[in-house]
Amino acid sequence: MEIKKVIEDSDRYIMHTYSRFPVVLRKGRGIKVWSTTGKEYLDFLGGIAVNVLGHCHPKVVVAIQKQAQRLIHVSNFYHIEPQIKLAKLLVINSFADKVFFCNSGAEANEAAIKLARKYAKEHYDQNRFEIITALNSFHGRTLATLTATGQEKFQKGFEPLVPGFKYVPFNDINALQAAINQNTCAIMLEPIQGEGGINIPSDDYLKNVRELCDKHGLLLILDEVQTGMGRTGKLFAYEHYNITPDIMTLAKGLGGGVPIGAMLATEKVSSAFQPRTHASTFGGNPLVCAAAVATIEAVLEDGFVLDHCNRMAKYFMERLNQLKEYYHDRVIEVRGKGLLIAMELSRDGLPIVNACLERGILIGSAGGGNVLRFTPPLIVEKKDVDQLMDVLEDVMGKSL
Ligand SMILES: *Cc1c(COP(=O)(O)O)cnc(C)c1O
Repeated sequence: MEIKKVIEDSDRYIMHTYSRFPVVLRKGRGIKVWSTTGKEYLDFLGGIAVNVLGHCHPKVVVAIQKQAQRLIHVSNFYHIEPQIKLAKLLVINSFADKVFFCNSGAEANEAAIKLARKYAKEHYDQNRFEIITALNSFHGRTLATLTATGQEKFQKGFEPLVPGFKYVPFNDINALQAAINQNTCAIMLEPIQGEGGINIPSDDYLKNVRELCDKHGLLLILDEVQTGMGRTGKLFAYEHYNITPDIMTLAKGLGGGVPIGAMLATEKVSSAFQPRTHASTFGGNPLVCAAAVATIEAVLEDGFVLDHCNRMAKYFMERLNQLKEYYHDRVIEVRGKGLLIAMELSRDGLPIVNACLERGILIGSAGGGNVLRFTPPLIVEKKDVDQLMDVLEDVMGKSL
């Protein structure tokens, strides 16, 4: 079918919740994807931090194929082998003792919010249900997670919102302290804000947040949906800050591309959930768990992927900083941790995103649209970064 016709059908039959680029992607391998017209792209967006191992990683593909032949779905009324294996891997490699599986980041955060409320009501009193989140945060699109999201642009039109949320500026410990009262049950944060513009807190912020939580008996919920699974150069971003949360949520990179979310907690906190308090029909389904087991095993293998991620991140940041020197009039800042990298511009980034697409590079934007977001697969190579930089230098030279 002609590309125009395919896009016509897409516009005709699919709800217009996205403004899409006029490209139909059909095939992917490693960091490359190909469109139906045969054009090749380097994927520096990585499905928005989903494709940590690149596209169609052989180990993930084989795991899905094998599991699809054995068992695709059964109810959580029964024990499920790949689910147990995945939970064990997550527990061994994190602060957590227990895992709840669901299907997306928003659902993982919903589960975290419900667990925090239930825990606080059981351990303190019925009025203790408020959760403090950060301005410019992003926690998802369901009503509760949309309310947790500290950005009005995502909430507009969907009022009334869910009661019990309060917002403070990110990376401002005094504002957070001032917002705590006897009704507060938890503080929910992204360790590094993704959608809000790749905002990195000062080194001691999360340590101070942890101390506040301990002092007031509050739960610390870290939303690692975007920062988890090696994205920042460690398996989980909290490891950079010498703290552990009480609850952590994962999704995006967890399944190497298949839809899966997880909410992890300590033994003490997780015991507030009992049979019939929370559930998901598909959550922890054999097929997606098999894919996630293959993904996490590949990410952790000999530390190779994480070491590589850190080496590439260093090189990538150096190159971006050189570009910033050259275009200091329009680049405000280059910042990042691991391969969660942003270049903040003094103007709208969309013309650059479009020009890169034209030249065969997929990148994203974040924040107010003036932040270019780079979340490539962790297996990205130096030559890929060089190719991106050639294009970026060129399109920025055209004074976009
Ligand atoms: C993407 C994202 C979510 C939402 O995940 P979905 O799978 O789209 O529901 C939540 N939190 C953070 C930090 C995210 O980046």
